[in-house]
Amino acid sequence: TTSRVSSAMITSWGGSGKVPLGLKRKGLRVLVTGGAGFVGSHLVDRLIARGDSVIVVDNFFTGRKENVVHHFGNPRFEMIRHDVVEPLLVEVDQIYHLACPASPVHYKFNPVKTIKTNVVGTLNMLGLAKRIGARFLLTSTSEVYGDPLQHPQVETYWGNVNPIGVRSCYDEGKRVAETLTMDYHRGAGVEVRIARIFNTYGPRMCIDDGRVVSNFVAQALRKEPMTVYGDGKQTRSFQFVSDLVEGLMRLMEGEHVGPFNLGNPGEFTMLELAEVVKETIDPNARIEFRANTEDDPHKRKPDITRAKELLGWEPKVSLRKGLPLMVTDFRQRIFGDHIEETA
Ligand code: NAD
Ligand code: UDP
Ligand code: UDP
Repeated sequence: TTSRVSSAMITSWGGSGKVPLGLKRKGLRVLVTGGAGFVGSHLVDRLIARGDSVIVVDNFFTGRKENVVHHFGNPRFEMIRHDVVEPLLVEVDQIYHLACPASPVHYKFNPVKTIKTNVVGTLNMLGLAKRIGARFLLTSTSEVYGDPLQHPQVETYWGNVNPIGVRSCYDEGKRVAETLTMDYHRGAGVEVRIARIFNTYGPRMCIDDGRVVSNFVAQALRKEPMTVYGDGKQTRSFQFVSDLVEGLMRLMEGEHVGPFNLGNPGEFTMLELAEVVKETIDPNARIEFRANTEDDPHKRKPDITRAKELLGWEPKVSLRKGLPLMVTDFRQRIFGDHIEETA
């Protein structure tokens, strides 16, 4: 535990090499941008639980206070309403940079804003990391591989991305964010980490964010048909959120820059996913085919050899185990108190 607090902490007190008397403490000071969102709020829970002091910065575009409200009143928790596109002055030891809408429906809503968040927002957080000597972790995405020509995707693959398509604001935005991260590392000596996250699901996902797992679960619970886009034969790999948070923390605490794929290699077609949702929620659930969206990647599955070897990490929760945990949360949020009456 001593190595965890050492370098970043000392530099952020002015690089004197000595922590001033009386300021020595066990926990770190950690900034989580996008901490009121789905993944961010689960990360905040783990950081608070291990004794850190956490500052959440969020503009509430897709995040919700409800996701972190259980920490209100805790002196080790602070919440700032702030847009990362604007400069920020705080003092911390580590920065987890998550701020960015993740669902295609949200990031396509205002594509220019998505680009600003990824480019200017990431630039600001790297400038902050440089000034205070904090370690910086970027949550990038499997979307940097685009519609991949290699399967499964290895970190050394450069991707197949359309630069002028409707997904480009996100894909290319994250690619620039990775570039900025590496240039601050090489040019300014900032300690950086890059995670490439594959499709993640779990409690606290936005119910109507348009992503496939949240759509199917909400639709099956509401007795509506599950909407399968295209022929439903495209594949994705679904990771439960607790596995991702474990991977992000190991990456931050470890010695390797990355990029690291963080995802669950279990690969499902959308039709197979619909079957699992049926088994979990309602054997009579129906599906309905819809036209697919533009530039939809055909296949996606992470090669996680690098994370296994260098971080000692691999996912533990299968789709069949994780889905019920999300269903419980969605049931409560969709039906509220009715659940008790009908159960
Ligand atoms: P989310 O939409 O639930 O969370 C994003 C958070 O960032 C929200 O709280 C939102 O309000 C905040 N935010 C957005 N723009 C901001 C801005 N300009 N300034 C301040 N805050 C802002 O999404 P998530 O699923 O929790 O994703 C978190 C991160 O992980 C994102 O960077 C996303 O790109 C990445 N990621 C997620 C997945 C996934 O499947 N969930 C996959 C790949 C990458
Ligand atoms: N920045 C910030 N907080 C800080 C330091 C920098 O938000 O504590 C922002 C700053 O506004 C700038 C960006 O980060 O737009 C990049 O900063 P850097 O110092 O790398 O570059 P410069 O300010 O020279 O453009
Ligand atoms: N999809 C679907 N029905 C839905 C929502 C999405 O069949 O209601 C498909 C979508 O076409 C894509 C896959 O599910 O092939 C995953 O989409 P999602 O938006 O969840 O994530 P991403 O495309 O970013 O991986």
